[in-house]
Amino acid sequence: MSPPAVRFADALPSTADVVVIGGGVVGCATAFFAARAGLRVVVLERRAALGTLTTPVSTGAFRLQFDNPEEIATVREGVELFDAFAERTGLAGWDLGLRHGGHLFCSLTEATLDRSRDLVTRQRDWGLTDVELLSGDEARARWPWLSPDVCGARYRAADGWLDVKRLTAGYATAASNAAGIPDAVPGGSATFLAGTAVEAIHVDGSRVRSVSTSRGEIDADAVIVAAGPFSAVLAATAGVEVEIAPTVRQKLVIPELPSVPPDAPMTIEEETAAHWRPAMRGCLALFTDSSEPPGPPLDPVPVEHDWAFGLLDPGSGHALARVAPFWRDAWAGGAPSVHWFLQAGQYEVTPDRRPYLGPVGPDGLHLNAGYSGHGIMAGAGGSRLVVDLLTGRADAAANPYRPDRRFVTREHDIL
Ligand SMILES: Cc1cc2nc3c(=O)[nH]c(=O)nc-3n(C[C@H](O)[C@H](O)[C@H](O)COP(=O)(O)OP(=O)(O)OC[C@H]3O[C@@H](n4cnc5c(N)ncnc54)[C@H](O)[C@@H]3O)c2cc1C
Repeated sequence: MSPPAVRFADALPSTADVVVIGGGVVGCATAFFAARAGLRVVVLERRAALGTLTTPVSTGAFRLQFDNPEEIATVREGVELFDAFAERTGLAGWDLGLRHGGHLFCSLTEATLDRSRDLVTRQRDWGLTDVELLSGDEARARWPWLSPDVCGARYRAADGWLDVKRLTAGYATAASNAAGIPDAVPGGSATFLAGTAVEAIHVDGSRVRSVSTSRGEIDADAVIVAAGPFSAVLAATAGVEVEIAPTVRQKLVIPELPSVPPDAPMTIEEETAAHWRPAMRGCLALFTDSSEPPGPPLDPVPVEHDWAFGLLDPGSGHALARVAPFWRDAWAGGAPSVHWFLQAGQYEVTPDRRPYLGPVGPDGLHLNAGYSGHGIMAGAGGSRLVVDLLTGRADAAANPYRPDRRFVTREHDIL
């Protein structure tokens, strides 16, 4: 028997129970949960392949170290799925490349250490009891390569990362073979169309009616917008305004850099939000620059090489060497001339940096967008919730991510 595959179609079906706009990790997760719920799903992706815009730019990290109980619960639900992915999707042997390598947030000043202490106290109140608070010396005893300037750290060993391409393909493959999902409602299916650009969502009276695309029009009872940074543009075609600020974020990929400890956790500097983790016998490194202004949604997203030097050059204010001095040696030893490259994508940032999940505007229109840099880890719990809201299995009044909510200010989440 041939292994299960993604069901692609060239011709647009005339109807669907649900049309999902966008074939990134969130659109594919939506297809998985909707097909599992017994719905006939059609996923429309403008690009020539699934999971090729923002999704592959991510570092694939997941963590429960959040600053509010709702996102902790949403990501926890996702991690439980990742841990049992092969069984829960019916894809025997499917390997997500998952590693619980830990997330270590390092403080260089008493100010951020106080903030960390306060956060860990609150996390414990919310039931997240396995985050450790370490002194600088305790942290260095475990990771001797940490700088003497690290005065304290918070650490959760069960946080980690996975391979986002395997995750996206896994959702799409399981959705395409819905009968094999262990707890599926019978009758569900998913069909994927790549190279299919959605032009507009059409509304008839107070309900969505259809979606027009570069391949014609499809009628649907429900439309879920999962178009990443383009989600606000698509919602606007149905007369719905949502606030999403696409903000460029880059990732530096350095394969084959022996000075990077292969067993290091995701290591984050609390003051600057510069961070890195081991990958490809080298590392992935990032910097969540809070001064980066938002802009229009972009495809493709250009890279800027100077940005990489800001992480690598020990003289920079957000150099990786501030927390881990071996980066100084890597620079002196020629790290800039090894085979590194950059990738760029956009965070789709909402005013409170939490996603928009569920119904909005005309009946039948739903959002699954605005993940603000957390769509890999939160996209599983978020997509399950969107589908449960659509099928009436979740209570709309209890939805903390409803798109028409009032926003609260957040201070703790730096990534
Ligand atoms: C540098 C960086 C690092 C990150 N690291 C992490 C991390 O470690 N952990 C984490 O959880 N998250 C991380 N993220 C965030 C994560 O990558 C995103 O939240 C996630 O990929 C969003 O997935 P998506 O499917 O919504 O968007 P996308 O992957 O952008 O997919 C949306 C799709 O919609 C399609 N589309 C757009 N318009 C149309 C149209 N008109 N018709 C049809 N299709 C359309 C696009 O072509 C695209 O394929 C990171 C992001 C960046 C940029």
